[in-house]
Amino acid sequence: MKINYHIHSQHSIDGEMSIENACEKAIEIGLKEIAFTDHLDIDWPDPDFDFGKLDIEKYLMDLEKNKERYKDCLRIKAGIEVGLQPHVLKEVEEIIVTYPFDFVIASIHIIQRMDPYQGDYYSNKTKEECYRLYYEETLELVKEFSNFDVLGHIGYIRRYSPFHYEEDDDLICLSLIDEILRVLITKGKGIEINTSGYKHTSKTPMPTPRILGRYKELGGAIITLGSDAHTIDDMGFGLDSGIGAIRELGFEHITTYTGRNPEFIPIV
Ligand SMILES: [Zn+2]
Ligand SMILES: [Zn+2]
Repeated sequence: MKINYHIHSQHSIDGEMSIENACEKAIEIGLKEIAFTDHLDIDWPDPDFDFGKLDIEKYLMDLEKNKERYKDCLRIKAGIEVGLQPHVLKEVEEIIVTYPFDFVIASIHIIQRMDPYQGDYYSNKTKEECYRLYYEETLELVKEFSNFDVLGHIGYIRRYSPFHYEEDDDLICLSLIDEILRVLITKGKGIEINTSGYKHTSKTPMPTPRILGRYKELGGAIITLGSDAHTIDDMGFGLDSGIGAIRELGFEHITTYTGRNPEFIPIV
């Protein structure tokens, strides 16, 4: 099953491809189903590069047009990647219930009003403190918020980290990570395997196979697969490796969504 469930189009502030061009590329590389998951990060701290700007109606109309255009060769799903912060949850909830999304990724990009991409987040903290704050925030948010399907890119905090990555860094805060996974499992939520992680020096997806294995050990079975593509070149990035990692851990299904309802597709 060739799928990509994490794609950003030009409707996202940082997307570089049109929905149409992304679909063309998907067909070219043999994908059968894709979900666009454009960004909606309400109250982004930098007003000059505001991830909270998404014209949802225009985005959904564009998706509908392309669903029709490619209906014979590609299944296209209308997803969204919502950014969670403690003070925006009600607003995010209202948006999710207002529009007919197929699939919702909840992601944590901002921690205590800081964007790790800007680098300041890591100042005056040890590596462990940087990780701990991210996981503590994530735990609180997944306890508080429930209207999503999968938690996005667990371990994201490593992406812009200036600290040298060690092989066992995914064990930092393991008990907190376990707690996050338990909350997700209890709530019937999944996690994504985000293959953009293979670009990182660790050469592992987010989360790492070890954390994915923990999710399985604790009883989790809902996994989506996505490359977090913002460009045409990344439409298929790491997907084969991602599937390989999932299979190696003994997962038997990958999850797709229609109208927020999961379907479990056997990994062949
Ligand atoms: Zn993200
Ligand atoms: Zn993304």
